Amino acid sequence: MDCLFCKIASKEIPAEVIYENGGVVAFLDINPMTLGHTVIIPKNHAENILDLPDDEVEPTFLAVKLVTGMLMRALNPKGFTIGVNHGRMSGQTVPHLHIHVIPRYSGDGGGSIHSVVKYPPKEGIKETKEKIIKTNNGD
Ligand code: 5GP
Ligand code: ZN
Repeated sequence: MDCLFCKIASKEIPAEVIYENGGVVAFLDINPMTLGHTVIIPKNHAENILDLPDDEVEPTFLAVKLVTGMLMRALNPKGFTIGVNHGRMSGQTVPHLHIHVIPRYSGDGGGSIHSVVKYPPKEGIKETKEKIIKTNNGD
């Protein structure tokens, strides 16, 4: 498959890898939003969280925690924004799941996750809850 991040995982394309284990690679984003901006990927191709096999969820997110700690110790940021662009519409440009870990610094000019989108629903949250529960039969 012609996937950029699969090629980084297999070392076909070089990257600044800061952490790696059997299932996961973490490397510095080529176009960092802040100092230390890192992306974490499962080595096996999965386009997004819904495609990630259950047994890869824990190792992937454990690596997110580990890498966040590494960045904290090395760069001493004031906080982090951790997130996934899930789907093209949300801004995903590489169709291989990657979790962004973006260190945050005083005066970095960024906002919170709440600044990503402003499109509040017309229905109330109770109605939304009913819809979700009913569709999923309590799964
Ligand atoms: P997305 O918009 O899909 O959530 O994020 C893709 C990220 O991958 C972007 O932040 C982009 O800078 C980064 N990226 C794209 N190509 C490469 C590459 O070849 N090497 C590295 N290290 N990062 C890349
Ligand atoms: Zn891939």
